[in-house]
Amino acid sequence: MRAMLLEKPKTPLKLVDLPIPEPTSSQVLLQVEACGVCRTDLHIRDGELTHPHLPLILGHQIVGIVTGVGSKVKNFKIGDCVGVPWLGGCCDACEYCLSGRENLCDHGTFTGYQAQGGFAEYAVANASFCFPIPAGFSPLQAAPLLCGGLIGYRALRMTGNAKKLGFYGFGSSAHLLTQAAVYQGKSVYVFTRPGDERTQAFAKTLKAIWAGGTDELPPVELDAAIIFAPAGDLVPTALKALAKGGVVVCAGIYMSDIPSFPYSLLYGERMIRSVTNLTRQDGNEFLALASKVPIHSQVNVYPLEKANQALDDLKQGKVNGSVVLQIKD
Ligand SMILES: [Zn+2]
Ligand SMILES: [Zn+2]
Repeated sequence: MRAMLLEKPKTPLKLVDLPIPEPTSSQVLLQVEACGVCRTDLHIRDGELTHPHLPLILGHQIVGIVTGVGSKVKNFKIGDCVGVPWLGGCCDACEYCLSGRENLCDHGTFTGYQAQGGFAEYAVANASFCFPIPAGFSPLQAAPLLCGGLIGYRALRMTGNAKKLGFYGFGSSAHLLTQAAVYQGKSVYVFTRPGDERTQAFAKTLKAIWAGGTDELPPVELDAAIIFAPAGDLVPTALKALAKGGVVVCAGIYMSDIPSFPYSLLYGERMIRSVTNLTRQDGNEFLALASKVPIHSQVNVYPLEKANQALDDLKQGKVNGSVVLQIKD
């Protein structure tokens, strides 16, 4: 099978030919239709997330058709269309796993990081961590839901009953979550790089109530803010826009250092918290919600062998919406 392989951080992925992997008794083998490209893939390639399993096939938003099932797999059969997310396995035994917080498992394995991912024609995945793709979503439409959507949804949940939401950074995750939040009757205020009018206009087409630069304050105080961009200096920026009792949720796996700021920005019972990984419950809830809205992914499609280009375009903010590799024609 053809695959794009990371041999060493900070080097481009290489197109290689590898044997098709064999599923273990608890895994499914998938013929990959599409795989989303995420900022986390960039952080791994660029060496900001350390200790990847090398050589590594990146990609943790995999949509594929089941072509093989392990002997113990009960929940999928040949021909099913399934999605594979970032959380690829957990121990089911630690305190976190036993208290519904498998996202924090000390022994979690992550797709396209410790386990081989979906920038390839075939992939194996633990069947109990895969999701059925809801009817009505093509593979290209479904792929971005599996990380941008799912982990974004976890961040949205952390904002509780907040009605006025600020989204800092407007990429794959934010454009999906705007649709979910508007559907839930919330008002979304979007912050982009100063002067990025193209992205601000895009946000408004998705019914954001206001869009401006991160150097601006919104017209009202926000109940909560989600920071999707990996920039720590947005934490004090978002705190300044927050009403008392509000929360700033950092939704990324990586963020540059947060600069010091006066305590008065936090005072008034404001909170800062992060979101880490996902649980399978997040996935099931979000995919059901995505069907109801229904959420439409704005996708920028690249062939497998252009994965480096896709990563670079994502890094440079050249695209609006999500980036997806179309692997099977
Ligand atoms: Zn565990
Ligand atoms: Zn991701």
